[in-house]
Amino acid sequence: MHHLIPMAALFCKAKKRGAFRSTKWAREAEKVHTEMYTAVKASVTEGKNVEVGKMYVCPACSWNSEGKAPDNCPLCYAIKAVRPV
Ligand SMILES: [Zn+2]
Repeated sequence: MHHLIPMAALFCKAKKRGAFRSTKWAREAEKVHTEMYTAVKASVTEGKNVEVGKMYVCPACSWNSEGKAPDNCPLCYAIKAVRPV
């Protein structure tokens, strides 16, 4: 008898999901973040030394990169927006 899901619970879940970052760009940036951390974690697990380069972040969409700064942000195309952290 679970066909009546409390709407308040659903709303609460949706709110939590969308609360942190709501734009598409920010979600993409978050994905890059996750992939980066996953790669670092994997290297650490394998006992390798992780060379962490300079970090760059786009203030417009929070896209970030390690080691190199592109001329324009690959996510939101803001020119010269990517800055060292
Ligand atoms: Zn950007």
